[in-house]
Amino acid sequence: MEHEDWEPRTELGRMVKNGEVKEIGDVFRLGLPMMEAEIVDILLPDIAEDVIDINIVQRMHKSGRRVRFRATVAIGNKNGYVGLGKAVAREVGPAIRKAIRNAKLNLIEVKRGCGSWECGCGKPHSVPFEVTGKSGSVKIELLPSPRGIGLAAGDVSKKVLTLAGVVDVWSKTFGQTQSTLNTAKATYNALKQTSLMKGYYNGYPAQETDTAAVTEEEKETPKAPPKAPASANAPEREGAKAEKRAEKTVPVAGGVAEVAEGVEGVEVAESQSGEVVS
Ligand SMILES: [Zn+2]
Repeated sequence: MEHEDWEPRTELGRMVKNGEVKEIGDVFRLGLPMMEAEIVDILLPDIAEDVIDINIVQRMHKSGRRVRFRATVAIGNKNGYVGLGKAVAREVGPAIRKAIRNAKLNLIEVKRGCGSWECGCGKPHSVPFEVTGKSGSVKIELLPSPRGIGLAAGDVSKKVLTLAGVVDVWSKTFGQTQSTLNTAKATYNALKQTSLMKGYYNGYPAQETDTAAVTEEEKETPKAPPKAPASANAPEREGAKAEKRAEKTVPVAGGVAEVAEGVEGVEVAESQSGEVVS
């Protein structure tokens, strides 16, 4: 395998390489931050990619206009795991490759379910309950739908939902949905909400210690998940800030800027408002 010579830099990476962690679900149960894309390569070898958006980013520089490409890519195994990442580079190819890597670091677990009383099949084909996600001015609501409805959503949302393995859903979108990046991120954020509630695993009640009481409590006070995705946001924000600094401060050597952008994960694009929705 191509990761034979991979030298893990994190505890989780070492556990994956030496075979202590064999399933991607365990990564989320352990709650350790995922800092290495190789973890996803090994545990989800059949992951699919979809380039959501390629954009030209222009910056004025001392030396003149500088053209760069921003790629936004969604990845997923079409069976409960999806990630979204973006990256900027001087050429399209490297931008896509870096975005894929960032998408892997932003992988989330999507809890699916039937969720629809009209259907009642009990299979994990839709979202388990209504979830909402926001990014910039875009807000999306995903609602459980019966089997056979398909993805009643816009094209960008459909790509993210398909990679997550959601087959049927009703949706409502608000705001500037022509913003591809914000629409993709709002959909990703909505899917993230499905795993905030314990007691569901692919539509079936978890066998672990979760009690119905805990589930009820969490339903009333939704809070940030106490596991990987939450902490994975930290480096992403720092990355975003670093990039903003880099844009304001005078010339940054190409190499330095590359590093700053490499760290960044998904963030609100060209955030006119500067608002960061997580
Ligand atoms: Zn159903």
